[in-house]
Amino acid sequence: MTKLSSEELLRYSRQIILPDFGEKGQEKIKKAKILIVGLGGLGTFSSLLLAEIGVGYLRIVDRDIVESTNLHRTPLFSESDLDRAKVEVAADRLKILNPSITIDTHATHLGVNNIDTLLDGIDLVIDGLDNFETRRIINQACIQKKIPFIFCGVSARSGNLSVFNLRKSSPCFSCLYHNIDDDNLESCDITGIHPALLPIVTGIQIHEVLQIILKGESSLDSVLFFIDLNNMSFDKISIYKNEACTICSKTAVSDETIISDDYKPLKICGGNNFMLVPQSSVSFDIEKIKTQLVSQFQIKKAGTHSITVILPTNDLLTIFKGGNVLIRGCETVKQALETWKNLREAYIS
Ligand SMILES: [Zn+2]
Repeated sequence: MTKLSSEELLRYSRQIILPDFGEKGQEKIKKAKILIVGLGGLGTFSSLLLAEIGVGYLRIVDRDIVESTNLHRTPLFSESDLDRAKVEVAADRLKILNPSITIDTHATHLGVNNIDTLLDGIDLVIDGLDNFETRRIINQACIQKKIPFIFCGVSARSGNLSVFNLRKSSPCFSCLYHNIDDDNLESCDITGIHPALLPIVTGIQIHEVLQIILKGESSLDSVLFFIDLNNMSFDKISIYKNEACTICSKTAVSDETIISDDYKPLKICGGNNFMLVPQSSVSFDIEKIKTQLVSQFQIKKAGTHSITVILPTNDLLTIFKGGNVLIRGCETVKQALETWKNLREAYIS
């Protein structure tokens, strides 16, 4: 039911009074279903705003756990949350902030195997990512399903934003970023991220989300918006649909390379950390795994979405409900894959 209650009319009264909002606008906001991909600095600020504003349904996706290096820029996480799955902590905080909205949590890596499920029923996708491979998967699926993709990327003291796929004539993510390879980009542990940048860029991102929900338009459609805090510049440049784009100029199949092994390893930001992503549908019963591992390993943290154990090598291994496995401390990809394979075969049934 999207009709507003008297409590909701009071709660949102300071935004309902704004031009373009009104009760009808607030009802549209309540009815909206938004997917937020990634719960780093970007995704935590944007989900916080969306919950405050009263978006009725937030689906949050993240494959990772809370680490101490996140805490300088993530408003939803505290020190007591270290080693818990980010989606679990975020959902707890957002439900306290606004108990009337629905939070749908997915502690998983977004890939070609689950993108259709994650987009099911969604009106808009919010970018909280730090890599181009996942953005390309989202972009392609959003084109096929006609869902706007609110892109946002940050590095050090600068960020850029755009709204892709709003109209058929709008450019898509790949029109602009077709030739950028993640391997050639410096990660956040090299470049750093200025925490003050995040509320600025996500504030603009969520402003555009509201423009789309309330009016079906965006100032960032066919525009790339640059913010650079080094010289306090805010610039807009026009961007155009690339007629040679192999993604939006025709319906193309995914070009993601699927490896034949059970798990695809990804090196992630922050040293010798590897995320092992299942290449088929996998889910784990964390409670059951806890009972299987507790006599063999020291349990560092266990929740409903993930469990982290300390290995004899002092490496940390986290198993997520959605199938991902994070190994922290391994020297090589091969070592990470072998560690997980051996542990799984010996202890997990
Ligand atoms: Zn395109």
